[in-house]
Amino acid sequence: MKAALLDGYNSPWEVREVPTPEPGQGEVLVEVAGAGACHSDLSVMEGKFPIIDEFPMILGHENAGRVAALGPGVEGLELGEPVAVFGAWGCGICSYCTSGLEHMCDESRWVGHGPPGGYAEYLLVPARRHLEPIGGLDPVEAACLTDAGLTPYRAVRRALPRLVPGSLAVAIGIGGLGHMGLQYLKVLSTARVVAVDTSSDARGLAARLGADVVLDPGEVDVVEAVRDVGNGEGADVVLDFVGNDATLAVAKQVVKRQSLIVIVGLGLGTLPYSFLDFPAEVDLYTAYWGSRDELSQVITLAREGRVTPVVERHPLDSINEVFTRLEEGKVRGRAVLIP
Ligand code: NAD
Ligand code: ZN
Repeated sequence: MKAALLDGYNSPWEVREVPTPEPGQGEVLVEVAGAGACHSDLSVMEGKFPIIDEFPMILGHENAGRVAALGPGVEGLELGEPVAVFGAWGCGICSYCTSGLEHMCDESRWVGHGPPGGYAEYLLVPARRHLEPIGGLDPVEAACLTDAGLTPYRAVRRALPRLVPGSLAVAIGIGGLGHMGLQYLKVLSTARVVAVDTSSDARGLAARLGADVVLDPGEVDVVEAVRDVGNGEGADVVLDFVGNDATLAVAKQVVKRQSLIVIVGLGLGTLPYSFLDFPAEVDLYTAYWGSRDELSQVITLAREGRVTPVVERHPLDSINEVFTRLEEGKVRGRAVLIP
């Protein structure tokens, strides 16, 4: 099969032929219809997340496609059935796994960050439980639901108790994750939403997706502007989908008393705490993917048309160009690679 391989950190992708895996006992082979190009993979490529044990590696953790072959003992799936792949593969028996939080399992391995991922024609999935049927949903759109759709869904849900009528939410970074997060804010809450992005394309997308106010941090003082929108007070919730020093500094300055900062982006920034620097009783959440149940809920929202991933479709052969576009902040929504 054709696959995009990474031969080491700071090296380009190389598309070449590798053996097609064969499903063993309990395993399922999926023909990949689309694999989302996540910013986390850009950080892996750049060596910022040194998590790869062995090169060459096939990355790609946002995958959907069709069931191509069933290993012995697999039941409940049809050949050709369209499925999304839940990406955290845990032990299956610990308390995290049995409650659906397989991404929290000690033994959890991420597809594409250990086992080979979906930047390839076929993907070997170790168990049927990692596959979520998607029905008539476009598998290219469904691919990006498994991370860009799932992670902000969990983040927004955890923030929902704060997002009462009259409240104000700020979303920083309206890219792959942020454009889904913005849609959940609009669909699941009555909060007014301020969207912040350095890219004009992303700001245009935010406006189209219903952000009440869209801010360019290069043009306006975001802290002042959020205070204005919040009637002199700050935000009830800030969702930071970038997570670098600059955005965390903004997050800290725009929140009001008894508010919540949710750090979703893995920009490796730090947020120093001092009593003198923060309004009273600010809470801080970090975000880490989502559960199988939550993926199923995200797929339901998409199938019902309540949220719609915005995708750019690119052939797998153009993977180097796609990651360059991602690095330059030129991708609108999520770029999905099609093998
Ligand atoms: P992306 O590149 O698609 O989107 C990032 C957006 O942020 C872009 O629109 C960009 O223009 C904007 N941006 C960059 N710097 C900014 C700044 N200073 N102020 C305002 N906007 C700015 O990235 P993505 O794939 O959506 O991923 C976002 C982050 O989330 C990455 O750090 C990624 O590693 C991380 N991530 C976290 C989890 C998790 O479980 N917590 C899961 C997946 C991805
Ligand atoms: Zn990701």
